[in-house]
Amino acid sequence: MNIPSWLHPLARWLLGTQAPMRRHVAFVLAAAQLYAVNLGIVWHSVHLGLFEAHFAAMLTWVSVASYLLVFTLVRSGVTQRLPDPVLTLPHALVSIGLCILAYTQLEDHRASVLILVAEALVMSMFRLRPTQMLGLGLASVGMLLAAVVWLSWHDPLRYPASTGLMHFVIGGATLLILSLVAKWVTDIRMRIGQQARELSRALDTLQHMATQDTLTGLLNRRTMSDLIEGELKLTDRQGSALSVALIDLDHFKHINDHAGHAAGDAVLCGFAANALAQLRKVDKVSRWGGEEFLVLLPQVTEAEALSAIERLRQSTERLSYAGHPGLRATFSAGLAQAQAGESLEQLVERADHALYQAKREGRNRCGQASHLPHEAHLPQQAQASAAWQEGTALEGSTP
Ligand code: GH3
Ligand code: MG
Ligand code: MG
Repeated sequence: MNIPSWLHPLARWLLGTQAPMRRHVAFVLAAAQLYAVNLGIVWHSVHLGLFEAHFAAMLTWVSVASYLLVFTLVRSGVTQRLPDPVLTLPHALVSIGLCILAYTQLEDHRASVLILVAEALVMSMFRLRPTQMLGLGLASVGMLLAAVVWLSWHDPLRYPASTGLMHFVIGGATLLILSLVAKWVTDIRMRIGQQARELSRALDTLQHMATQDTLTGLLNRRTMSDLIEGELKLTDRQGSALSVALIDLDHFKHINDHAGHAAGDAVLCGFAANALAQLRKVDKVSRWGGEEFLVLLPQVTEAEALSAIERLRQSTERLSYAGHPGLRATFSAGLAQAQAGESLEQLVERADHALYQAKREGRNRCGQASHLPHEAHLPQQAQASAAWQEGTALEGSTP
């Protein structure tokens, strides 16, 4: 809800700053109107001479004290870890108890109090579990029965048994039906909540699967392509520097053939974890294909990018792999710095040429791509780009 800015400090003080706490305190504050209406009826009845002032004062003190106790407990945060942080059940029981107490003291207007009991039940159904809801409904019917019996017993002249019976049958049946409906609504609310949680988990999984490589947990090719295209636009607009490194593990087939496919997978995962640890947070690492990775290094000069990949190369050389003693792996890389107007395809192609060169020169090294001649900086073509991505994406597939 939008509130005027001058009320913000008061709202912060009253509700707190954290979202769950604010929700819980707001719920307790909403219950205040139930108390206000109840006490309003009581004091109006005192004014009309229908209610003893000392009893009204006692009722007021008990109501205010119990309300402030609940408010303080919720606002202090001590109830945050409880399954019901707004103390709905004890709070509802006390308010219904006070309503029934008012019922015993009001004369002609006593039936109106039952509406407030119904209101307490309705408010509770948004927080209680179905069985608690039914229990609360039965408790309110029980309290009404006790009040009716007590009144008929102590004051048969002003409250004859026939009146008590009528109040109990109509009021009790209404409260019972209301609590059954509330239990049913609570059942539905809980089922919808459960389904919403399951749906949200499924969406998380789907998003994870759509953007990440399942084996290494790195970004997949599609996500990296989108990222680079976004960064290239920024580079064009702001002239910021951007490099990509295409990395290919050396003689990986040999590792698979001699140490087994599981060892190959361990090398892929080990490389991925090490790359994430070695590079900056802003650098992005993706699995580009089988044993190929593409690293995006934004806002770095070519020399800085080279030194980062060189550091990664040296640390990869030293990596060992749990369960595969003696296993070592190296990589070759091709580094290319983006040029103005260059497309994703052109940039990666230059990195690929540099990688090819590094392989030819003996592997376990990083080659640097030559710059494009000026006239080759063609504007990007969205269709060509999409077709290129579709055609070459392996996206975490294992052979
Ligand atoms: P080079 O140094 O020239 O890159 O040689 P290479 O052996 O690394 O290259 P090659 O393309 O001949 O072999 C790549 C191998 O990577 C072949 C393929 O079976 C293996 N591979 C691709 N994806 C996976 C994977 O997910 N797990 C495992 N274990 N192996 C994979
Ligand atoms: Mg390869
Ligand atoms: Mg290879």
